[in-house]
Amino acid sequence: MIYFYNTLTKRKQVFKSIKDKQVGLYTCGPTVYSTAHIGNLRTYIFGDILKRVLLYQGYKVKHVMNITDVGHLTSDADTGEDKVEKAAKKSKKSAFEIAEFYTKSFFTDCKKLNILAPDIIAKATDHIKEDIELIKSLEKNNFTYQTSDGIYFDTSKLKDYGKLTGMNFKKLNKTLKAGARIELSPEKKNITDFSLWKFSPKNSKRQMEWESPWGRGFPGWHIECSVINLKYLGKAFKGKRFLPKKAQTIDIHTGGTDLIPIHHTNEIAQVEAITNKRFVNFWLHGEFLILKDARMGKSESNAILIKNIEESGFSPLSFRYLVLNSHYRTSLEFSQKALENAQESLNNIHNFILDCLIDNKKIQKKKTSTFSLNEIKKEFEKSINDDLNTPRALAAFWKLIKDYYQIRNNPKKVYEIALSFDKVLGLGLDKIKLVIPPKKIKELAKKREQLRKMRKWAEADKIRKIIEKSGFLLEDTKKGTIIKPKL
Ligand code: AMP
Ligand code: ZN
Repeated sequence: MIYFYNTLTKRKQVFKSIKDKQVGLYTCGPTVYSTAHIGNLRTYIFGDILKRVLLYQGYKVKHVMNITDVGHLTSDADTGEDKVEKAAKKSKKSAFEIAEFYTKSFFTDCKKLNILAPDIIAKATDHIKEDIELIKSLEKNNFTYQTSDGIYFDTSKLKDYGKLTGMNFKKLNKTLKAGARIELSPEKKNITDFSLWKFSPKNSKRQMEWESPWGRGFPGWHIECSVINLKYLGKAFKGKRFLPKKAQTIDIHTGGTDLIPIHHTNEIAQVEAITNKRFVNFWLHGEFLILKDARMGKSESNAILIKNIEESGFSPLSFRYLVLNSHYRTSLEFSQKALENAQESLNNIHNFILDCLIDNKKIQKKKTSTFSLNEIKKEFEKSINDDLNTPRALAAFWKLIKDYYQIRNNPKKVYEIALSFDKVLGLGLDKIKLVIPPKKIKELAKKREQLRKMRKWAEADKIRKIIEKSGFLLEDTKKGTIIKPKL
């Protein structure tokens, strides 16, 4: 049994998919106006672990992700500039070019982090017709009103508006006002009301704008996710035609915790107002990555990128390890020191895999292990099934490593178990191959040994560097020097 903490019910629940052994999974994708920072990427690693756990447990997963290339404004209050248009103006590139550039850069980073690609990637700008269909439906059912700048959703009309936050309509309105997340513009009836369609400004021309029954403009930020969910997972669209009665509930929806009170709350409102059916069964949210004193933001100057991690000599997967080492529902403080430790742990894991491969060549006789591989496997699986407890799963992995080094038995079996764990962890352990060093490298290593015996350290070191440049590392052990491929 797999347990997930469901934001909707505020408790850990046994996961049950709607269709046997099949899961529809939706992840809110990036807003593509700048490079994703490692905070954003923490949330996508969490989504990836979730997906990998489902796959590990034998589910067939249909994973859909949107790309927000229009409609996300600089303020949650439906005011301010469109983030992509703003970036386009600054860079003198078109809004479409900006979106394409940062979408590519996002998936390049995801690949470096071993984040599995979604089955369907859907751009907001490719779904304008469907947005209009959904808004027309909301209008027909009296959930909308028009102001001078757009069409708005009247949140007071939905009886359980705000349920994802655990607050009722009144309390949520009060809280948002107190937190000043949203201001009440004079024409908005309730502070929680949100735009479905915004009119293009009268005094300037937007690059991304479309005709609609209400006037030229662009969709609100939340509508794209409702539509893309309903289209690819909820089966409520036939082509561009909206068939709300056909809408099916979706298994799982993920994102960062900041999306709960506004974006996800509004996604639910837009769908449930029309379908009268639960939109999503399980809502899972990842906590933030933080710096010592501040939240990391794309628009702040404190954004750390994967590129920065690589430039400081760390591997992107060391960041993945760092993320796995904390539970997704606790905030994670990033520091150089924490990354250093993560890199060291990752190197040790890689070395362990190499040792298994080397031992497997040497140890011919398969002795039965004196430590219980089954117990470790059980502990690993129990941990991942317990609301994705990756720190505990890593601890089980480290027990495997420690026990192995004590007796060095059965390397083949231990290697297989490590690789099966890595189907969930995604640390790239399957890429580690035992490369037999060429004759030339072996000779150089021997020469270095002789120089060391003669205490000619500087010359020995020069040879070590040549060997390293050729892609091999030397490890000096009590039993002599071992040549390993550089990872
Ligand atoms: P955005 O590209 O701004 O739409 O955000 C993409 C994802 O990153 C969303 O799921 C956010 O909730 C998430 N996110 C934003 N900032 C952070 C952070 N500092 N730590 C973790 N997740 C974040
Ligand atoms: Zn979304």
